[in-house]
Amino acid sequence: MNMKESVDQVKQRIEAACKRANRDPNEINLVAVTKYVGMDRAKAVLQEGIQHIGESRVQDALPKWEALQGGQATWHFIGNLQTNKVKDVVGKFSYIHSLDRESLAKEIERRGRQNNVVTNCFVQVNISGEETKSGLEPNQVLEFVKKTSKMKYIKICGLMTMAPYELDSEQTRPIFRKLRQLRDECNQLGLPNVQIEHLSMGMSNDFEVAIEEGATFIRLGSSLVGKD
Ligand SMILES: *Cc1c(COP(=O)(O)O)cnc(C)c1O
Repeated sequence: MNMKESVDQVKQRIEAACKRANRDPNEINLVAVTKYVGMDRAKAVLQEGIQHIGESRVQDALPKWEALQGGQATWHFIGNLQTNKVKDVVGKFSYIHSLDRESLAKEIERRGRQNNVVTNCFVQVNISGEETKSGLEPNQVLEFVKKTSKMKYIKICGLMTMAPYELDSEQTRPIFRKLRQLRDECNQLGLPNVQIEHLSMGMSNDFEVAIEEGATFIRLGSSLVGKD
C-alpha cells in the first residue's frame, strides 16, 4: 500500500470510530510514529498532510529531526526518556508523552528554563499494572500532577497510557476508560493550573476502541507508516 492509501484508510477508520461514539473527528490528533521507518517514509507521511510525528528513541529521532530541521511538523517524544537525554528533546519536541517521575519533570523544567521553552507533557500512567510497562500507578497521579502543575516550563496537557497487546482489542476498553475517569477526577478537584485536556491512548491494534473511550491523541506506527 502506498502512503496516501494508508493515510486515507486510517482516516476512514478514525471517522467510523468517531461516528460510533458521537465524536467530532477533528478532536482526534493523529501522531504518525516513525520509529520503525527511515527518512523516506517519514517524509512521505508528512507530505500526506500529517502534522504530528512521534519517535520513541532519542538516537533514532535526532537524525530525522536534523534532516527535516523540524520542518512544519510537530514532534512528539513517546518512549521512555532517560534524564540525561532531556537536553536533546526539549526545544525540538513540543510534546513528551512519557512523563513518569519527578526527576524527569525537574530536568525538563531545568532545560525548559535554559531554553525558555514550555514543553507539553502527558503523564504516563500504568493502568494495566503490567510490570513491563512504565508509568505511575493510578493512585500516584493526582499528587504528581499537583507538583508538576507548579512548574513553569512544563504544561501538563494530558494523561497517556499503553494498553496490553490484545488479540481482541475490545479487551483494552476498560484500560482506556479508566484513564479517562482518572483525567476527569483530576480536573474535578479544581486545582489552580490543572486543566488536563488530552488523552494519549490507542495504537495500531486498539486505536478505534481508544477513540470510542475518549482518546484525543492516537499514536500509530505499523498501521500507518508501516515497517521498513
Ligand atoms: C511504537 C509505539 C507506538 C506505535 O506502535 P504501533 O503498534 O506500531 O502503532 C505507539 N506508542 C508508543 C509509546 C510506542 O512505543
